[in-house]
Amino acid sequence: MGKTVALVTGGLGGIGSEISRKLSESGYIVVATTFNKEIEKADEWIAEQKEAGFNFLVEEADVTDFEACGAMVKHVEQAIGPVEVLVNCAGITRDGFLKNMDESNWDAVLSTNLDGVFNMTKSVLDFMLTREFGRIINISSVNGQRGQFGQTNYSAAKAGMHGFTMALAQEVARKGITVNSVSPGYIATNMVMAIDEEIRNDLISQIPMQRMGKPSEIANTVGFLASNQANYITGANIPVNGGLFTSF
Ligand code: NDP
Repeated sequence: MGKTVALVTGGLGGIGSEISRKLSESGYIVVATTFNKEIEKADEWIAEQKEAGFNFLVEEADVTDFEACGAMVKHVEQAIGPVEVLVNCAGITRDGFLKNMDESNWDAVLSTNLDGVFNMTKSVLDFMLTREFGRIINISSVNGQRGQFGQTNYSAAKAGMHGFTMALAQEVARKGITVNSVSPGYIATNMVMAIDEEIRNDLISQIPMQRMGKPSEIANTVGFLASNQANYITGANIPVNGGLFTSF
């Protein structure tokens, strides 16, 4: 494989970092995207990854901003290389019962988790269509499949991501582009460790495997979907949740 680019939104995050590492090991030039590159975090992250043997590029784009996503992708295509893999991993939570949820928390979650997928995918799609090859992988959530107390916004956005996945998969299948989603269960990242310990332990007790998942377990699935081994898989959702939610 020649050096092509894997673009990972939220690539500096708990799950995104492991996905970046996995795709780097698979031979891609990995461009991790962040909301705000100016913050020290990006430099610290690059240095930390370098120490572990990984060389990553970081680009900035707010995934809620269509113009910014388009400009960033154009820059990557021109200055770095052809984007072969897009992983939509950027996401936020703003939990609260619907009764108390204000509009801003609805809007923030929908625009980051769902509009963000549109904004980034639309930005890479023409390039992928021209080359007749691409791998689009959307990081959804178990809570998009089954709903979750206090997460009407997040569950709606994550379920919406999969509707998007299934529809786009049909539109681009004949152009060599696959579109899939991965639905993690509870993964031990800052997002989940921020949950109150008592609630976290209660959540773990409901998982048949009796433990949270590791970011690497999501990354391995993304690596598989990006590889040639997954050539005939499109429009699929792969749950990685320790048995927390099963369906067919
Ligand atoms: P993190 O908070 O560690 O990572 C989320 C990333 O999203 C951050 O790196 C952040 O970028 C980025 N981000 C947030 N808002 C924006 C924005 N407007 N524009 C661009 N980037 C943005 O969370 P996780 O690693 O835990 O989660 C990664 C994904 O996995 C999310 O989509 C999440 O919903 C999903 N998921 C996570 C689960 C878990 O248990 N952890 C379970 C199920 C799904 P930065 O701060 O660098 O600017």
